[in-house]
Amino acid sequence: MENKRRIYLDNAATTRVDEEVLQEMLPYFRDNYANPSAIYSFAGEAKKAVGRAREQAAALIGAKPNEIYFTAGGSESDNWAIRAVAEGLANKGRHIITTKIEHHAVLHTCEYLEKQGYEVTYLDVDSDGKVLPEALQRAIRPDTILISVMAANNEIGTLEPLAVIGKIAHERGILFHTDAVQAYGHIPLDVEAMHIDLLSASGHKMNGPKGVGILYCRENVRLHPLIHGGAQERGRRAGTLNVPGIVGFGKAAELSGKTMQERTARETALRDYLIDRVLTEIPYTRLNGHRQDRLSNNANFCFRFIEGESLLILLDQKGICGSSGSACTSGALDPSHVLLAIGLPHEIAHGSLRLTLSEETTEEELSYVVETLKEIVERLRNMSPLYEDFVKQEKGK
Ligand SMILES: *Cc1c(COP(=O)(O)O)cnc(C)c1O
Repeated sequence: MENKRRIYLDNAATTRVDEEVLQEMLPYFRDNYANPSAIYSFAGEAKKAVGRAREQAAALIGAKPNEIYFTAGGSESDNWAIRAVAEGLANKGRHIITTKIEHHAVLHTCEYLEKQGYEVTYLDVDSDGKVLPEALQRAIRPDTILISVMAANNEIGTLEPLAVIGKIAHERGILFHTDAVQAYGHIPLDVEAMHIDLLSASGHKMNGPKGVGILYCRENVRLHPLIHGGAQERGRRAGTLNVPGIVGFGKAAELSGKTMQERTARETALRDYLIDRVLTEIPYTRLNGHRQDRLSNNANFCFRFIEGESLLILLDQKGICGSSGSACTSGALDPSHVLLAIGLPHEIAHGSLRLTLSEETTEEELSYVVETLKEIVERLRNMSPLYEDFVKQEKGK
């Protein structure tokens, strides 16, 4: 078989581990394999490495190292944050506010809590996917114990007004959690300035390893454990530490902080090149998400008269990896809950394509993607009876 070209534009689903990160991790698989909880001096190097990673993870968001808990990824951190607050404050109230566009790790945790007798308000967003602070204000009740709003949406890339939301939460004495899995290492985050009490992040969305994440929890917030067992992570998260993963997380956090400004400026220019060309060269196409306030690497389009899955299969045949939304919903035929929440009708939401860039993406690759997309979209539309009817109607006018 010929060695097919591969253009990877699904960095919101996962990223490649950075070479420096990998090199940093490797010794902790074999040479320094000691359990960091052990007393003997052989464990010292692993223990030190975990401490260093905790500092690196904290520094990226203006937190203290003792406010960082290592977990097995973003999903665990989201589950933990929400369930811990729900359990811990059950006597104070049982009302939680979140949004309709959260990741399923947040939405399904909230649905689980509803079955346990909690009440959840799912805020609407505007047509760009932004939470409206006035709507949040109106949703707050005396028994509200938690507000959970994501930092950046994983499908359409829209950035939420975290500082405004956090300020409202704190003025009303309510804890604020943010799922920052897409934002951590990609946009500046500051838990003080943004009034964040709990924050979830994941290694594999920022060129670190899979299966490791953090939950930041503000010092004065009592954190109920999710996983019971040994005394690791100050007795809050049992289980022998994933030392190589934690070391990789820390290194990835450090590097992404260092390169953030330059990397995101470059990505933004390429993203805008892609968006401008697709919107001007392919008719009946729309951009989903806010035009400016979006992740530097995210483009999300809807092509009318097209089915997203067919588009992905044909793109794959040309070596292009894209997504129709979140990886978790691929395979399901329901349109994305995010696209429905920004007000798109089902038939348009079905024709969506998410392309997410990386540091390694080039203009030449994107140019090839645009040319390929033009061909494929035209081919699929020519096979569509809906498009045929539409063209006839347009001609009749
Ligand atoms: C990927 C993602 C998650 C889940 O993180 P994992 O580490 O894969 O469990 C949660 N929230 C958002 C916004 C994500 O993009």
